[in-house]
Amino acid sequence: MTKQKIVVVGAGYAGVAATKFMAKKLKKDDVEITLIDRHSYHTMMTELHEVAGGRVEPEAVQYDLQRLFARKKNVSLVTDTVIGIDKEKKIVKTKLGKYPFDQLIIGMGGEPNDFGTPGVKEHGFTLWSMEDAIKIRKHIEDTVAKAALEPDEAIRRAMLTFVVCGSGFTGIEMIGELMEWKDVLAKEHKLRPEEFSLMVVEALPTILNMLDRKDAEKAERFMMKKGIQLTKGSPITQVTADHIVLKDGSQIPTNTLIWTAGVKGTTDAADFGLESARGQRLYANEYMQAKGYEDKDIYIVGDLVHYEENGDGKPTPQIVQAAEQTAHTAAANIVAKIKNTQKHEFKSNYQGFMVSIGSKWGVANLMDKVHLAGFMAIVMKHIVNLKYFFDMRSGYYMFQYMMHEFFHIKNDRNVTRGHSSRYGNVLWSVPLRVFYGSMWLIEASKKVVGDGSYLNPSSWFGSGSWFTDKVVFPFPWLQEQVTTGASAAGAHAAEATTAATGAAGGATDAVAATATQATHFGFNYTFGENPMPVFEKMPHWFAKIMEFMMPNKDVALFMQKFMTFVEIGIALALIFGLFTWLANAATIGLVIAFCLSGMFYWVNIWFVPVAFALMNGSGRALGLDRWVIPWIQRTAGKWWYGTPRSIYGKNSSN
Ligand SMILES: Cc1cc2nc3c(=O)[nH]c(=O)nc-3n(C[C@H](O)[C@H](O)[C@H](O)COP(=O)(O)OP(=O)(O)OC[C@H]3O[C@@H](n4cnc5c(N)ncnc54)[C@H](O)[C@@H]3O)c2cc1C
Repeated sequence: MTKQKIVVVGAGYAGVAATKFMAKKLKKDDVEITLIDRHSYHTMMTELHEVAGGRVEPEAVQYDLQRLFARKKNVSLVTDTVIGIDKEKKIVKTKLGKYPFDQLIIGMGGEPNDFGTPGVKEHGFTLWSMEDAIKIRKHIEDTVAKAALEPDEAIRRAMLTFVVCGSGFTGIEMIGELMEWKDVLAKEHKLRPEEFSLMVVEALPTILNMLDRKDAEKAERFMMKKGIQLTKGSPITQVTADHIVLKDGSQIPTNTLIWTAGVKGTTDAADFGLESARGQRLYANEYMQAKGYEDKDIYIVGDLVHYEENGDGKPTPQIVQAAEQTAHTAAANIVAKIKNTQKHEFKSNYQGFMVSIGSKWGVANLMDKVHLAGFMAIVMKHIVNLKYFFDMRSGYYMFQYMMHEFFHIKNDRNVTRGHSSRYGNVLWSVPLRVFYGSMWLIEASKKVVGDGSYLNPSSWFGSGSWFTDKVVFPFPWLQEQVTTGASAAGAHAAEATTAATGAAGGATDAVAATATQATHFGFNYTFGENPMPVFEKMPHWFAKIMEFMMPNKDVALFMQKFMTFVEIGIALALIFGLFTWLANAATIGLVIAFCLSGMFYWVNIWFVPVAFALMNGSGRALGLDRWVIPWIQRTAGKWWYGTPRSIYGKNSSN
């Protein structure tokens, strides 16, 4: 068989899912998968309202395709706009080139449907692309800035009235963002928040019609409590530059109408000559093959496909789950054709719906069994989004998502109400970092110097240090080996005491020498008292691990020397601010291990919270991390993912 050329048009949810699936399943086959999109990135459409509503920056919902498909040798990326398909010759035509195919998946998504309502195109805004989101954001910023300088109250109020048409996911999530953004904008422009009006206008008598009624009612109550006006059963009949007209003839003065009332298949695919259904969607059969072109290996997926699963006139919904599931069906059928196996019919499996109203409140319906409202629904939405990156095997974007949503958000607009995104100047933690590093250096030096003198290096590594042939770990199996042959019965206890004394962060010699005294819980030393170990005895499971790692005296002696070097390394890293995050994470790990070994005392437990506090990027101020970490990020990123480009494919320089 000659090399199979698979072309996927559209890197939305459907296109990406199909490409990932085929890249994996056809890893060992002779295929070339070409993914064409007009953008060099994948857009997380479900979070576009966050960009439009000024919560996150555009890059927070843009995922570079080269990063998503890094190291997928059978995938090539093309940034170009598809303008036609020659179905007979099997060629995809783009603005800049032509791509012959053996198999084709079309997942070009949808676009807003204004149902011909006059004025929407000229004066309204839509939310179905990154460009749309940025346009809305800019318009709102400019309008509020102008309103702040408008002396006429009626005109100012119209400027500060924001109307969303439609109460599906898009509309409700959009108004939720505006609900939070308005307070920020009011403060920035010295306006009163009460002067802002937020409205949702819905043609049907109910809102959020894809949700369970009880969930939708909760959402409605929440919005009303927050001052959002809901106008139901009122189709918009006209949009002008400064007002909208409802079916009953009433007018609402506004400069901002965001139209989210309908979705249709993209107009770009309307001229492909494929049979279309209602709303410009393209007909496909149960295998997602384009109707009438089953023998041409053309598949339609995502928001663009019209497939009636139950034959009841209702096509698959225009939601992410349907996009991914139709894409899997098409991709599985291409794999089946190449591998000569059985075809797969589409079978939907929708797991539920989630709608956020702002960053802190939402409603969720999971598998029609679990209904959540409020904080938990938002947590669930984040979990689902993180799972999306996990499914795409993109640890990088999973990390970036967490950064954007939890740690780098401004104005407290996240689920933790800003607790996770408060910025501080890391310069203030430099003294603590150096102090903490010095503490580790002191602890490590004790293990090197032992009973010797700090000023006399020739006395180091002798008695009392961790570099003799005495095992310092108080582990019973090692003690037995140490005491075998040693006649003194008390040697065991003495050895163990010495070991505990020498442990990192352990008590001083003087304190350990009084091992027979009762131990006392405390976070500071009291003269003459014996500090209390965090764990008196090693837990059984930990003893098993330790015994496996240090089965005999020779290994233990090596380990104690090695540990000393590790501690010196950690100390220097902290003092010089190099790999500070890792160094602190390592100290937490070491302290936990020492605690479990019965070698760490409550008095030094502050090591742990201090390490957490210093994981704040403290090495970036007066530390080597300021230069080293960006260099590593640049070099490793380039090596693993290549250099990100604004355009991929034939006409790019790669
Ligand atoms: C604000 C908002 C909130 C939403 N919330 C939810 C939600 O909570 N849950 C949910 O399930 N769904 C939600 N949706 C719907 C969901 O985003 C869509 O169902 C989903 O994006 C469909 O995926 P797709 O791959 O078919 O199309 P898309 O994701 O739209 O991708 C289509 C791709 O095709 C590319 N393309 C189009 N034309 C061309 C061309 N001519 N040449 C090259 N490339 C082209 C586009 O650039 C795009 O990358 C929301 C949508 C929006 C806008």
